[in-house]
Amino acid sequence: MIIVTRIGVTEDEVDQIRERIEAAGLRTHISRGETHTIIGCIGDEERLEHVPLLSLPGVEGVHPVMKPFKLAAREFSAGPSRIPMGQVEMGGETLVVIAGPCSVEGEDMLVETATAVGAAGARGLRGGAYKPRTSPYSFRGLGARGLELLARARELSGLPVVTEVMDTRQVDEVAGHADVLQVGARNMQNFALLTEVGRVHRPVLLKRGMSSTLKDFLLAAEYVMKQGNMNVILCERGIRTFETATRNTFDLSAIPVLKRETHLPVIADPSHAGGVRELVAPLSYAAVAAGADGLMVEVHPRPSEALSDGDQSLDFEGFRELMTRLRPFAEAAGRRVEESNPSAVA
Ligand code: PEP
Ligand code: MN
Repeated sequence: MIIVTRIGVTEDEVDQIRERIEAAGLRTHISRGETHTIIGCIGDEERLEHVPLLSLPGVEGVHPVMKPFKLAAREFSAGPSRIPMGQVEMGGETLVVIAGPCSVEGEDMLVETATAVGAAGARGLRGGAYKPRTSPYSFRGLGARGLELLARARELSGLPVVTEVMDTRQVDEVAGHADVLQVGARNMQNFALLTEVGRVHRPVLLKRGMSSTLKDFLLAAEYVMKQGNMNVILCERGIRTFETATRNTFDLSAIPVLKRETHLPVIADPSHAGGVRELVAPLSYAAVAAGADGLMVEVHPRPSEALSDGDQSLDFEGFRELMTRLRPFAEAAGRRVEESNPSAVA
């Protein structure tokens, strides 16, 4: 149930509405827009049956939510959500680009990458410490040491750090080092993990499962939000189809559809979508033109030596060029791209 207040509603009136809902045993979530305040009701709506909500001072409308996802639904919030990532905000006017290696391979390569991508305008550093790999014989990340290196790279570059958490047992450890917890495509429906990351106070970057519908995707976000963590960023990274010319099929239409259905920020990962370096730029332009709030791009100092996903990683020059060429697309979509990160050392 969503309650929309009248223009000019007072704080006292909002408090009274909230108290009535909470007295009926439901929780509330307040979202303040420029003209209206939205009061989302969480819990058993039948308990509100005998509360005369429409007659309460300040109430303009009462709307049941018909969608299966409720906290993630566009109607639940007075406007698009802005998610804090360190000092940066995802979901605002500025296009936020997160860049870095697929895997953290060592200190030098990570710090080198953080410095280079920060200087080129990235606002976040990515890098996997715990890596989900199709083959158990592939490099699976440096684990705890990788997390320490990420924290060190944040210190040196000033960039907030995004890294994957694969298991409920790793949540506290990863949350102790990272600014944003990534839940990967292979874990999008790991409901125990979604529940666990919902309990910590770190934003979650949720990647779309390879065979998930957008409804599945939003319901996965709902799992996190239901635990009280409303800071979820959705990431379209391509889905499995019959097509074999690309690593995955980039579902471009997912971006405007998600932007219509949810208040959560939506970003794109052109690296895992295309699977090859040449596709990263065109998929990035398309995603931004379609309304993406940000991008997550794989960058490696020497892609030919990368321990994972080298074929789809940009080198520093490629990333700088991407950031320059992205600008007109971002501006056409009504967004700004940062020239460079002031705290990054060029
Ligand atoms: C990654 O970001 O390195 C990754 C493993 O992505 P995905 O979960 O989308 O495959
Ligand atoms: Mn990767």
